[in-house]
Amino acid sequence: MTSQVLVAGAGPTGLTLAIDLARRGVDVRIVERATEFCAGSRGDGIQPRTLEVFEDLGVLDAIHAAGIPVPLTRVFLDGNVVTERRMSELREPTPAVPYPNPWMLGQSDTEAILRARLAEFGVRVELSTALVTFTHDADGVTATLAGPGGAETVRADYLVGADGGRSTVRKTLGIAFEGSTDDSIRMLLGDVPVDALDHGYGYWFADAHEPMHGISLTPLAGRNLFQFATPLGQDAEPTRAVLQDSLDRVSGRTDLIVGEPEWSTVWRPNIRLAQRFRVGRVFLAGDAAHAHPPTGGQGMNTGIQDAYNLGWKLAAALGGDTSAPDTYESERRAVAARILGLSSALLDKHVSGAEDAMDRGEDTHQLTLTYRTPDATGTLVAGDRAPDAPLRRADGSTVRLFELFRGPHATLLNFGAEADSAAGPEDTGTQAYSLVGPETPPRDGQLVAIGSHAFTEYAADAGTRVLVRPDGYLAWRNDG
Ligand SMILES: Cc1cc2nc3c(=O)[nH]c(=O)nc-3n(C[C@H](O)[C@H](O)[C@H](O)COP(=O)(O)OP(=O)(O)OC[C@H]3O[C@@H](n4cnc5c(N)ncnc54)[C@H](O)[C@@H]3O)c2cc1C
Repeated sequence: MTSQVLVAGAGPTGLTLAIDLARRGVDVRIVERATEFCAGSRGDGIQPRTLEVFEDLGVLDAIHAAGIPVPLTRVFLDGNVVTERRMSELREPTPAVPYPNPWMLGQSDTEAILRARLAEFGVRVELSTALVTFTHDADGVTATLAGPGGAETVRADYLVGADGGRSTVRKTLGIAFEGSTDDSIRMLLGDVPVDALDHGYGYWFADAHEPMHGISLTPLAGRNLFQFATPLGQDAEPTRAVLQDSLDRVSGRTDLIVGEPEWSTVWRPNIRLAQRFRVGRVFLAGDAAHAHPPTGGQGMNTGIQDAYNLGWKLAAALGGDTSAPDTYESERRAVAARILGLSSALLDKHVSGAEDAMDRGEDTHQLTLTYRTPDATGTLVAGDRAPDAPLRRADGSTVRLFELFRGPHATLLNFGAEADSAAGPEDTGTQAYSLVGPETPPRDGQLVAIGSHAFTEYAADAGTRVLVRPDGYLAWRNDG
């Protein structure tokens, strides 16, 4: 059996990639070693940039319907409420940033939504099917799968290892996973019912003399459960009783009865970056390529962005532009290194008990990530995220830039009255538009910028042209 792309691993990274490929008509197969889908909430914070990706992939409405905004956290010290705060302050949407706030949804629910979207393209995750080994050559990959029907040899043009931190793909390629595991820290994490607590809030319970070392409980959308995180002593067993004891001690209460965890895991800081993200026709994405601490809520989001960066490039390669994926490693490895720095710094703050340890900072939203070259200056240059903006059509109806970007195509924006909307790049998949400033009467087919903000200020500059990549970053900008 042959396919164009074989994806190993059906976590958020593999699912995003499979959707992005399937919507481009690529023949994709996605295999998952587990016998059933993981029920744990794990990455429950969806960052603003990921919400933009989800809008493009057609799952944002479902994500919004299933999730909740970041809740207020009630901070208890020695059993008394001392304050209420949010992990990140709520912001108002702007024309350029339609989704300025993270959105909360347990990872298992996000994955279910992604699987449902993938199924709309006729692709289903093959459970109980592990990638065992593979060889690769100049033309493709030959992989051995172990599935319910026994061993199977498959051929694919490309293989993507989205198979998590213990990645078979990474190990088979012999790629170093550089970094460290800190055995001195153990955390117990999981999903539990705590009936005595109002599910509309998050909670932080700690001793007043050690306010930053406590237990967090975050409500899980659509479930009567909280995601908890508590330090676990070196010899302590990861049991409900241990969690109950810790909660009794730091809360000073006896009415907070913890139910049996629906899912739990013991976590140690494991902070690593793969030395390479690609060897020939084999790629690494998500946790297979970078392992993050959960501080800052970056792991799942970074994997989804890897997939979104790679999908259109693999499709372009299958269409004949074989150099298209060449930028994947340089772009995404640099981003992963930066994000690891960010989440590690937040972890250090937690461990040291810094007072601002809960402030995640705006960079965790991943809106400021850019693929620009280090020497680039100015705003909105090649590599930067293309912002959203409202526009008006000649018939008076409105449309957002993100709606023009939506879909698998690249988008050419011709700014100014003189621009020729028909002048697009050679690539036939590109959609071209002509935009003018609010003061300029539009000609037929032109779009008028509403208001003045980042991108639409260009509309006054006759002749400026910008090519927006399918993943929403500027490929180039020519000033008129
Ligand atoms: C408690 C906790 C809290 C977290 N909180 C956050 C957060 O708030 N925000 C955030 O962004 N991230 C968070 N993360 C991290 C996030 O869960 C991971 O970064 C994310 O799951 C990575 O997605 P992935 O698809 O790359 O890998 P995974 O989710 O690990 O998926 C890999 C899949 O590959 C499968 N697989 C493995 N080997 C094979 C094989 N040989 N063949 C076939 N299939 C295979 C595995 O079974 C698995 O299903 C948290 C993690 C934990 C544990």
